[in-house]
Amino acid sequence: MTDYVFPPAEPASVAIAGSAARFPVRRIFCVGRNYAAHAIEMGGDPEREAPFFFTKPSDAVVDSGVTIPYPALTSDVHHEIELVVAIGKAGFEIAEDETFDHVWGYGVGIDLTRRDLQGEAKKAGRPWDWAKGFDNSAPCAPLHEKVGNDHPRAGRIWLAVNGELRQDADLSDLVWNVAEIVAICSRAVELRAGDLIYTGTPAGVGPVARGDVVTGGIEGFGEIELRLE
Ligand code: MN
Repeated sequence: MTDYVFPPAEPASVAIAGSAARFPVRRIFCVGRNYAAHAIEMGGDPEREAPFFFTKPSDAVVDSGVTIPYPALTSDVHHEIELVVAIGKAGFEIAEDETFDHVWGYGVGIDLTRRDLQGEAKKAGRPWDWAKGFDNSAPCAPLHEKVGNDHPRAGRIWLAVNGELRQDADLSDLVWNVAEIVAICSRAVELRAGDLIYTGTPAGVGPVARGDVVTGGIEGFGEIELRLE
């Protein structure tokens, strides 16, 4: 046993649908601009540019159903509903047709973004860390263990604020599908069990305010609910 100077923190974790067990989170990777309509609304190229990644701290995950404080340093927090892929088996340079074997399951997540800080970072050529990787910035609904023999390739993905629909698209609109995202991410790092990949958000992102109730879901993978205070 390693002798630590104080007890190490419990691993961050996500609930699992229909189970008392939890999924221990190792790292969080996120894909930028993976739906053409969202790439356009963010001023990007709707063509199939190579996917790029950013990260969040593992302990940025919070369960569905919680209330989080309005994030610090910002007056423009945006919601981004996303399909989350949960890795269950390590792999480096995974072939696309072998990616399903490395996945544990899927879920519904929200990539909360301090859009004002992101805009400043883009303008100054600085990292996105403070825009993306802050406390409570990765809400995630209970994960669903994979079934069958292929990743989800279609299904409605949506998000509403105070009951008003803001994002409404389909997983079939993903520019880079799940197999491609997992394969490409695994060329940059060795993926390990516990890693989560947020796969990008469809069009319709927008601000959330104190007191808002954010709900969302993905066909077949349940729903998420979040409150800000
Ligand atoms: Mn995102």
